[in-house]
Amino acid sequence: MLNPKLQIIKGMNKSTPITIAYGDGIGPEIMSSTIKILEASGAKLTFDEIEIGEKIYQKGIKSGIEDDSWDPILKNKILLKAPITTPQGGGVKSLNVTMRKTLGLFANVRPCKAYSPFIKTKHPEMDVVIIRENEEDTYGGIEHRQTFEVYQCLKLITLPGTERIIRYAFEYARSNNRKKVTCFTKDNIMKLTDGLFHEIFKTIANDYPEIESENMIVDIGTAKLADTPENFDVVVMPNLYGDIVSDVAAQISGSVGMVGSSNIGPDCAMFEAIHGSAPDIAGKNIANPSALINAAVMMLRHIGQNEPAEKIQNAWLKTLEEGLHTADTYNPETSKKRLSTSEFTDAIIERLGQKPEILEASDFSANQATIIPELLLSRTDVRPGLRQHRALKGTDVFVYWEPDNPDLLAKQLQHYSNGKFELTMITNRGTKVWPNGLPQTFCTDHWRCRFKSTGPEADSSTVIDLLSSLNNGSIDIIKTENLYEFDGEPAYSLGQGE
Ligand code: NAD
Repeated sequence: MLNPKLQIIKGMNKSTPITIAYGDGIGPEIMSSTIKILEASGAKLTFDEIEIGEKIYQKGIKSGIEDDSWDPILKNKILLKAPITTPQGGGVKSLNVTMRKTLGLFANVRPCKAYSPFIKTKHPEMDVVIIRENEEDTYGGIEHRQTFEVYQCLKLITLPGTERIIRYAFEYARSNNRKKVTCFTKDNIMKLTDGLFHEIFKTIANDYPEIESENMIVDIGTAKLADTPENFDVVVMPNLYGDIVSDVAAQISGSVGMVGSSNIGPDCAMFEAIHGSAPDIAGKNIANPSALINAAVMMLRHIGQNEPAEKIQNAWLKTLEEGLHTADTYNPETSKKRLSTSEFTDAIIERLGQKPEILEASDFSANQATIIPELLLSRTDVRPGLRQHRALKGTDVFVYWEPDNPDLLAKQLQHYSNGKFELTMITNRGTKVWPNGLPQTFCTDHWRCRFKSTGPEADSSTVIDLLSSLNNGSIDIIKTENLYEFDGEPAYSLGQGE
């Protein structure tokens, strides 16, 4: 059995400097509440504040962060961040995604737990931790408009990125005494990208025989999670599914306003609420600060300040238990009083040192190791099979072509292609339209033309010759994707209907 070495970030007992960002919308209200509670709890922290988000975007800085704001983040290595408003549309990048990727925060951990009967939920037994891959997938944000009609977003799933998040999920399960890890993928459709995620999940599951493992297609998995969350424990998935599914899980556990999250990397960590800046309720003193408070508790545990972490968590549980709730969780059947953000904050502070009587009290006496799994699968000395023979067998040439006539396009391509490649297929939006396409298939102005090498292998110079020849025939080439075989296995998808 492989045992990944774990890098443990040791607890620090002295006052720990952390970087904080008040964020946008409800951010300043819930951050003020959280800081007030942290200070009252006896947590040993000093705060370096940075300004990021809306105000910085308004200065014309497209990243939402000024260059010198990275210094305190990199120096302190711990960031407690309130939600940021991401301007919609082109021209700017999401600061949240930039932070996670720039700082190498590969794991996003989102515990979604029911606090029944005090917080109304249809799922009183729910206690699920969503572990979302945080750096890859479509969140590379690599998008292009390629023709007048077609836009593209690149989905990147990598071997080391996948290995790291899946090992993290199993190590998390092991160290938190969880019994099962479920993986959500869509590898019935995305056989290479999600197929890799699933394959690595199966491989790594063998290293953790004491933990049950299962894979589900993300659509039925989400449906089952929403219906019977008590059947799930730890759930790991690629970035986009994790983003969506964790909001579903948080909402059905009680409210998105309750769930905090940690973003963990080898060097830095960021703690935040899972919800956004809620501009609809900003400035009204009605937001629920619980998610950011829970994120701060996760942060305290990460830096080894377990005592104030436990104190805050138990005071918060006691407050919930007494029916003191903010508007989003207020329910006449289960709540005693609807509190404002500041009243809820004061209620928690008044209960610091108390424990819940009905809800299970938190016990953080054991240190929580921060898990940074070592990569084993991608190390050639451990698994030499990964160094495979890669052979270039052809190329997919994507072209812009207006006429809705694939036969004519095929004729043009065949006329101008050199003898080293044979045109084998044309697809439109992934569906085969030549040879023998159906007139019913809807076509856009974006065509994928598959050329296979007529010899045993192609090379880059023959591909360039092909492109040059097509270009001479006024074929409007948008891009190419090479067709490789790895150890004789085709490493590209078929066309639908091929
Ligand atoms: P949102 O999470 O801000 O709000 C969704 C709904 O939940 C709203 O009705 C809101 O009032 C409610 N809500 C959210 N948090 C609450 C709380 N603490 N207390 C009570 N009610 C709460 O989602 P959105 O409206 O889609 O996004 C608003 C902005 O936040 C967008 O610009 C988005 O890009 C950004 N966002 C930021 C982050 C982040 O900083 N990590 C995450 C998600 C969205």
